[in-house]
Amino acid sequence: MRHRTIIEPFRIKSVEPIRLSTEPERVAALAAAHYNPFLLDSEQVIIDLLTDSGTSAMSVEQWAGVMRGDEAYAGSRSWTRMERAVRDLTGMAHVLPTHQGRAAERIIYGHLGGRGKVFLANTHFDTTRANIEFSGATAIDLPIAEGRRPDALHPFKGNLDVPALEVLLRQHGTAVGAVILTVTNNSGGGQPVSLENAAAVSAACRRHGIPFLLDCCRIAENSWFIKHREPGMQDLTYREIAQRMFALADGAVMSAKKDGLANMGGFLALRDEALAQACTNLLIITEGFTTYGGLSGRDLEAIAIGLEEVFDPHYLEYRVRSTTFLGEHLHALGIPLMRPIGGHAVYVDAKALYPHIPVTEYPGQSLVCELYTLGGIRSVEIGSVMFGTYDSAGALVPAAMELVRLAIPRRVYTQSHIEYVAETFEAVAARASEVRGYRIVREPRFLRHFSAHFAPC
Ligand SMILES: *Cc1c(COP(=O)(O)O)cnc(C)c1O
Repeated sequence: MRHRTIIEPFRIKSVEPIRLSTEPERVAALAAAHYNPFLLDSEQVIIDLLTDSGTSAMSVEQWAGVMRGDEAYAGSRSWTRMERAVRDLTGMAHVLPTHQGRAAERIIYGHLGGRGKVFLANTHFDTTRANIEFSGATAIDLPIAEGRRPDALHPFKGNLDVPALEVLLRQHGTAVGAVILTVTNNSGGGQPVSLENAAAVSAACRRHGIPFLLDCCRIAENSWFIKHREPGMQDLTYREIAQRMFALADGAVMSAKKDGLANMGGFLALRDEALAQACTNLLIITEGFTTYGGLSGRDLEAIAIGLEEVFDPHYLEYRVRSTTFLGEHLHALGIPLMRPIGGHAVYVDAKALYPHIPVTEYPGQSLVCELYTLGGIRSVEIGSVMFGTYDSAGALVPAAMELVRLAIPRRVYTQSHIEYVAETFEAVAARASEVRGYRIVREPRFLRHFSAHFAPC
């Protein structure tokens, strides 16, 4: 007998209470947080879809691993276990542990970057772009055309535009520091990248002698899409698909807070010994000794176990299908979405939901505030607040899209939580035409979305 319901393939052994709030309480809390949900306390949030990063529920095996964690400064048993897990998965000899993904980015892009250098990617994630630009280099996004259109259906919308890549590789030559594929493409809608595209990018990099790196935070979720959408891949395991993709790359940066199913951690994996040596020097200065990076032994243990568990077919099926479940509900309500639905999040097209709000008044921020006010749901703007810049006259240069991301933490929320989110969207849709925009009243220089203050227009 076939069931329609995809159940959570786990039982709940430990519970974390959610504090329920009233709408007047939330209106006051949002004003006190300067209309930026990053500045809310988690206690003030009912369903936290701010990020899927570091918010996973760990398994019994991972918690048992926490107890087994070897906290030796050098040569910890837990490090041996994590190093083996990363080497087996990536096929890369040199593994540098870091406290999270951006620390690995700082090390590799600090080394390969600098003034005059150019980095090319399907889409640079915000911390990737910030680390590249902080080094003095330039980051250029080259998604395929469908990747920039929220409602354009394409099985691998995260793909990089290879003809455009060829042009820029010829134009910039050795000034190209690296070509990066973010799998899945977080900022571009959580969309997958095909093995075919990765192979074409890899071949172009080989021809030009440029390093090809994977930002592999969600490599397991990406493998799910490849198995189910890419011709000829259905007989491979998810892990084998990931290994094929790693085999094409010279290095990989990972935030283990995503598909590592851990609450903290990351790594940099490299094939080239000389490059690994240079990066190791930076690692020791900024993160810690080579056998722990910025991590405790218990974190190393949790990551080693998480990297195995994440490829479990029942887990991945539940994971991707439950994200799609939310997307399908919202689509049925007529909420404009980035489609098809990606692996870790549903992205709402706020520009289409609020056509009366100009991009200079950040329609995505309006939606983020509405979701919190009406349902206590925390989400994040991925549009001109996150990626907008100013021209020399001080006018906003908007982002390509005004999206709001509803990121689903792994193994945390049940189907009824997700149905509650869908119901909140009914209320959001009912008063969409009355909603106003926001202006920024205070902002820092880098990664402004984290701490900017807003006021209603
Ligand atoms: C989260 C993320 C990073 C940065 O990792 P942190 O662990 O948050 O520092 C880099 N790239 C992508 C695609 C990510 O999703």
